[in-house]
Amino acid sequence: MKTCQRCSSKRVFSVTAKCSDCCCVDGPGRQTTDGYVPDDIGIGGGDYVEMQWCLDCGQIQGTWPLPGTELDGAEPPGLDPATLESGTWVDYHARVGGPVTRRARTVGEPWQLGNGGWVVKIEGGSGGVSLDALSAPS
Ligand SMILES: [Zn+2]
Repeated sequence: MKTCQRCSSKRVFSVTAKCSDCCCVDGPGRQTTDGYVPDDIGIGGGDYVEMQWCLDCGQIQGTWPLPGTELDGAEPPGLDPATLESGTWVDYHARVGGPVTRRARTVGEPWQLGNGGWVVKIEGGSGGVSLDALSAPS
């Protein structure tokens, strides 16, 4: 049984609601009406609003804070796989949207995972890292 990430309560419920393209989102500076569910604000995405929350403390279960989203006017994180060449200097962020962990050069070309995400090898790393965790050096 799932326990709450904040208070360890076992009173965690989940909801899946198909609203398709009738989703309205209201937040600082931005508002959408009658669109699909944004997939970058932690409430599901596409046709469905999906989330789990705690009946004791109200915590919505997930990884917070989320990186900046298109919806709140921020540039989406990450690099464009189409323009990323081998040997490019990049800043690696251990937490997407967080501070720079270290600077490294890419090794080889990025490749796409089954879930649609892009990864690339960087110097000093084993395996691929998500392009969402990389940014152009500032
Ligand atoms: Zn809780």
